[in-house]
Amino acid sequence: MKRTSARTRQIAGRKIAFHRYNTVIVGAGAASMNCAVHLYDFMRRKGIEDAQDRIAVIARGIGLGASRMSGSDKQTYYKLGTSPEVPDCAEAFARTLTAAGCCHSDLAMIEGIGSLREFYHLVEAGVAFPTDSMGSFIGYKTDHDPAERATSAGPKTSRFMSECLQRQAEQAGIQMFDNQEAIHLLTTGEGKSKRIAGVVTVENLESELSDSTLHVFLAANIVLAAGGPGELYKTSVYPKGQFGIHGLAFKAGLAAENLTESQFGLASIKFRWNVSGSYMQAIPRIVSTDADGGHEHEFLADFFPTMKSVATNIFLKGYQWPFDPQRIENLQSSLIDVLVYNENQKGRRVFLDFRQNPVGARGTGSFNIDDLEPEAFEYLRDAGALQKTPIERLAHMNPPAVEIYRENGIDLSSEPLEIAVCAQHNNGGFAVNKWWESSLRHTFVIGEMAGTHGVKRPGGSALNAGQVGGLRAAEYIVNAYGSDVADDPGDSQEIDQQVQNLIDKLSRWSQSSGPAPQDVVEQIQSRMTASAAHIREEDDANESLKQAIRLFKEIQDKGLAAPDTRSLVAAIQAEHLALASVAYLKAIVDLLTQDGGSRGSYLVLSPHGIPIHPDIKHKTTGESLAFRPENQALRDRILRTEYDETSPDLFKCSMIIPRMAPTENKAFERAWHEFRKGKIYGI
Ligand SMILES: Cc1cc2nc3c(=O)[nH]c(=O)nc-3n(C[C@H](O)[C@H](O)[C@H](O)COP(=O)(O)OP(=O)(O)OC[C@H]3O[C@@H](n4cnc5c(N)ncnc54)[C@H](O)[C@@H]3O)c2cc1C
Repeated sequence: MKRTSARTRQIAGRKIAFHRYNTVIVGAGAASMNCAVHLYDFMRRKGIEDAQDRIAVIARGIGLGASRMSGSDKQTYYKLGTSPEVPDCAEAFARTLTAAGCCHSDLAMIEGIGSLREFYHLVEAGVAFPTDSMGSFIGYKTDHDPAERATSAGPKTSRFMSECLQRQAEQAGIQMFDNQEAIHLLTTGEGKSKRIAGVVTVENLESELSDSTLHVFLAANIVLAAGGPGELYKTSVYPKGQFGIHGLAFKAGLAAENLTESQFGLASIKFRWNVSGSYMQAIPRIVSTDADGGHEHEFLADFFPTMKSVATNIFLKGYQWPFDPQRIENLQSSLIDVLVYNENQKGRRVFLDFRQNPVGARGTGSFNIDDLEPEAFEYLRDAGALQKTPIERLAHMNPPAVEIYRENGIDLSSEPLEIAVCAQHNNGGFAVNKWWESSLRHTFVIGEMAGTHGVKRPGGSALNAGQVGGLRAAEYIVNAYGSDVADDPGDSQEIDQQVQNLIDKLSRWSQSSGPAPQDVVEQIQSRMTASAAHIREEDDANESLKQAIRLFKEIQDKGLAAPDTRSLVAAIQAEHLALASVAYLKAIVDLLTQDGGSRGSYLVLSPHGIPIHPDIKHKTTGESLAFRPENQALRDRILRTEYDETSPDLFKCSMIIPRMAPTENKAFERAWHEFRKGKIYGI
């Protein structure tokens, strides 16, 4: 760990290291690293010689997080089109992003405008996006994507992005503090002048809370880039241990938007990885077994009437990957997710078997690749993937997709792959303005923590948004707020008191007989997967909200059992995850009460809704499942959620109208003048 000189102070009998920076970034994924590099570049352009010493990246693990540890068959980066023949523009790009509603048009437009600048930044940083012999970056089609704007550097695109950008940040000499768990956001001021003045961290490697383990990072600006709270869900494809810091950010006063909108889809669970794209386009056989692996059954054949529809829908799941309630009726591809879930609900396990083609059942006919719907057949034919078995087709189309499982101890040519419908991404997150500044001035939120996506997003647009957001935040920080390091607060009562309270709490918890953090996390995860994932119901969500509030209040009253630093870190994570789960459930209940219906990536069940299939039954009532369609009137509203200690539900929700994109068609000289004078930063 690299350290600058830090001032050591005594608080509550402990030595605390106080560091000061211009900007502290929490997190070390693709979004964070990019922002760090841009901050450095913008400061250098202003003539700041020691820019690298004014920026710090702190992370619980530089090698952790979704960017470093997650991916799919060819993890997608969605950018403005680069085809030499087909024109594209930011406005068309933004229209795709906002198509399903609940999305600020200014953010969508900026993500389009900044897309190629950031894409080429990654190319120059060394990410190997493929080109043809003419130098064109080749595109393909992804989910919710009408154009071919997607590209990929293979299964680990986001990891390569993070590593290439980290190299640039290290070359610049930017300060990086690894193994630092953010455990509290220090706030100063009230009302409009409230802001986050710093981050308290604990080194998560120590065995006990010694003098050296607590740090305070004070900064003039804070960038939160700690990713999504993947640990909220039991059935999840996020890397294990990805807690995020949503609870801390809510407590500090940041407002969130679209918390109801997360993405769920099919993923392998032993090794957590998305089975999108080529995994499904290879058309593996999908079977379920009992808990012990016996009584194999090809359940799709009970629902899809012909082999043509079974096989074509498996293929389509590749680029219609997220679960989508608008793709269930009339035997479309998201019926597969419902059927997988249905098997799991019956206690059965579901597998992709790449050794065999689908076999079907009596009446469906048998598998014949020539018999697929034209969209599927032509794709496979053009890819030269008409081999006999799914594993041969997959190995032909995408060898790294087979390799990634081998690297993780799974041989797809000799064993089936267990899957489930998993939580994968937060479309919602913290509210930001067009410079990715949060509801608190001087605090910026980027990457998956920022709630910039609407109800649906094209696959790959999360990575684009993370890069553009980091650029915008860095540009604004340096040009509007300057490069000065945070003032030394001296013995600020306001800050010292918060540090003291934190130390007192940690000391109490080290003696507490309250619940164990692991039990709390398991409780949260089971509840969220049952009530706040891709299948939702008003009464059930309401009951879960009450339980979540009760749990959080119990933690406040009794504390958590945390006898050493390792369990202290786990206890802090459990506490803020508990608060985050209240926020998500509150938002979900609020939208259900407003009759939001099924949209994005979840179904809202209702006895009087649209029947899914007579043989798909409700787990408790035994009635055939039916769902409410989307309430489209709510597409031009965004649900905002804020922590409110005085509210019985701990959070308050309100509806806001999405912002429009300003149309600025200024003459060059006028725009140049405003740019030179820095007027573009006056929001
Ligand atoms: C299986 C899977 C496949 C995906 N595929 C795609 C895709 O194809 N295209 C696409 O666009 N998106 C995809 N996504 C989403 C995308 O990968 C993520 O949204 C993105 O990588 C998030 O980047 P980030 O920088 O915001 O956060 P992350 O990469 O998650 O990084 C979070 C950072 O915060 C740190 N951190 C967390 N908590 C703390 C704490 N308390 N204290 C200090 N540090 C902390 C972590 O150590 C880490 O460094 C996928 C996600 C998953 C899970």
